[in-house]
Amino acid sequence: MRITKIIIYQTNIPLKFPFKIALGTSITAENIFVKIETDQGIHGWGEGSPYTPVVGETQKSCIAVAHDIARFLLGKDPLNIKEIAAGLERIFPFNPTARSAFDIALYDILGKTANLPLYRLLGGQERDLFTDYTIGLGTPEDMAEKVEVAVYEGFSIIKIKLGTTIGDDTQRIHSVYNAIKDGVLLRIDANQGWDKVEAVKFLKAIENLPMQFCEQPVPARDLAGMRYIRTKVVIPIMADESLFNTRDAVTLFFNGICDYFNIKLAKTGGLTEAIKLVSMAETLDIPCMVGCMNETRLGLMAAAHLAMAFPIIRFIDLDSALMHSIDPIVGGIKYIKGQVLVPDDPGLGVDVDSEFLDDLERVKVE
Ligand code: MG
Repeated sequence: MRITKIIIYQTNIPLKFPFKIALGTSITAENIFVKIETDQGIHGWGEGSPYTPVVGETQKSCIAVAHDIARFLLGKDPLNIKEIAAGLERIFPFNPTARSAFDIALYDILGKTANLPLYRLLGGQERDLFTDYTIGLGTPEDMAEKVEVAVYEGFSIIKIKLGTTIGDDTQRIHSVYNAIKDGVLLRIDANQGWDKVEAVKFLKAIENLPMQFCEQPVPARDLAGMRYIRTKVVIPIMADESLFNTRDAVTLFFNGICDYFNIKLAKTGGLTEAIKLVSMAETLDIPCMVGCMNETRLGLMAAAHLAMAFPIIRFIDLDSALMHSIDPIVGGIKYIKGQVLVPDDPGLGVDVDSEFLDDLERVKVE
């Protein structure tokens, strides 16, 4: 099989409401879709969702790099995934999100060629996946109201964005706690917003709440700070922005820096590296979360297959598409009260609405 044509689409999807975290506010999901076509009539879809403050990539940089990646891929066998991924990592080491769109599309082709859903191809079997619902930064009252709606809609795990001042964050967490009912679990994400002393003070004060873990309390590069926090508090610490790939995971594990890993395909450069990372986590018995940037259900689909195949992924944070004002994806995962249902169609199991595609700016490489 040979790759004959690649189309790169620029996708802008307005959010239902501005989504604020400690690193900034998003109003549109500015992503790329790629479609890889082959001489066997099989095609694969992938998506990259660049979150600039974390990966340093933008939609524009992704499109520029995607053009170069497409030229690199043309004529290659799409099933040589490991060789292609290694080549792309060598040539574009600092563009993991642009790479991820192509890597995902190659696995879609692999699954369709094998006529198996991707999670089956990865050796997985059906299991229940329950995603959290993320509440962006806002006033304590506003956040509590959003939590009430999410719990009413059936979500039993709520992720709360924090990471401003300890005073404001304390008000937020208590307001949110008063809005949940028994059985609802909380997880918090400071997105690098605190320093280690503030983080310890805050996390000690909320130890009695139903808290699963705290993501990325301090800046990505402050590994010593993260380790300090971990030695002082009982709430488990999850690395997100400090963890891109398996090399980072080795550093984090062997220095005792975190309890959990947050894996995102936009950071790993796609499924090839994510499979490596999560396999390592399995061996070391480190519980993982699979997270998202601002993907549609296309990108989320790839992450959901990964989660199905690796039970060490105990936490699911695949809710970005729920914040989008339009959904251009046909087929794919369904949400029922926080449960993520993965279909059994071959490959990723998704297509993209052709009318949506008609209006998009695109680059064709053939
Ligand atoms: Mg995070």
